[in-house]
Amino acid sequence: MSRVPRARIVIAEDSLVMRAIVRQHLEDHGYEVIEADDGNAALEACRTHHPDAALLDIEMPARDGHEVLRLMKADDDMADIPVVFLTGRTGTDDIVTGIELGAHDYLKKPFEPPELIARVNSAVRVKRLQDELRDRNAELETVSRTDALTGLYNRRHAAEHLVRHVSSARRHGLDLSVLMFDIDHFKSINDTYGHAGGDIALREFAARLSPTLRTEDIPARWGGEEFLVIAPMTSADGATALGERVRASIAGRPFSIGPDQTCVVTVSVGCATIAGEDADGLIGLADVALYRAKAAGRNQVVSAA
Ligand code: GH3
Ligand code: MG
Ligand code: MG
Ligand code: MG
Repeated sequence: MSRVPRARIVIAEDSLVMRAIVRQHLEDHGYEVIEADDGNAALEACRTHHPDAALLDIEMPARDGHEVLRLMKADDDMADIPVVFLTGRTGTDDIVTGIELGAHDYLKKPFEPPELIARVNSAVRVKRLQDELRDRNAELETVSRTDALTGLYNRRHAAEHLVRHVSSARRHGLDLSVLMFDIDHFKSINDTYGHAGGDIALREFAARLSPTLRTEDIPARWGGEEFLVIAPMTSADGATALGERVRASIAGRPFSIGPDQTCVVTVSVGCATIAGEDADGLIGLADVALYRAKAAGRNQVVSAA
């Protein structure tokens, strides 16, 4: 019988004898068992120990099994714990109520030990699959908002954030600035060091950008060699100062491209601070400021303000 080792089971049952029997069978099959002798203890055990499954008696002091399941389903931390009812009461009404509340399964007392183990195994398998799915979804979610080359947020994620920040800044009358960075003469970096060398420079740019920011600032790769920083609660002066810090940290020390290859890199920066624009309008202002920084000779910060 396939079973994931050391899964943890909460057994809630007011009969000491029944608990001892169930514990013995489960431990014989490698399960870790946590006992609860009433409904409140069952909830506490599930909340504290995050079991892979809970075996709940229906008739218990304090809270009955149905009530325990109802409360578990209403709590994000416990909602995904599969519940197997262990009960002498298996009238149709009980089964219907339990299933409507989200019970995983039923086991009728007195039970045959192989059936207990089979039903617990199945509940644990479901739990493990759910956990895996949730972890993979979280990974996918991270991948979908990350730029693979630099590890910064990608454009899609930054654009979504910007729309939210713009609307909240307008609603609450807060400052909000954006900074658009474009590496100067990046084509010649590619021409000199190859595309792989260019990629190293992009990663190094991101590595120098991040430590200059506050935790609230959102750095993203906006396109090829263009980067955007969303700076909430930041005035025009604050944005210019931030842009200048980044500019200096890029120009201040040559980038190391290969073992014996270094390259002087500079960046031009356009800043814009919200004054009634929407997200696209704000980006447009930063772009215009960036263009002026390029036209004025590059390696400088220009504010749209
Ligand atoms: P300027 O100072 O006016 O910004 O000059 P520039 O050469 O940086 O101008 P431009 O924006 O025209 O060139 C950007 C170059 O960046 C062109 C493109 O081939 C290169 N590029 C875009 N994405 C990547 C990438 O992921 N890796 C590398 N190595 N190069 C890229
Ligand atoms: Mg009971
Ligand atoms: Mg560009
Ligand atoms: Mg460029």
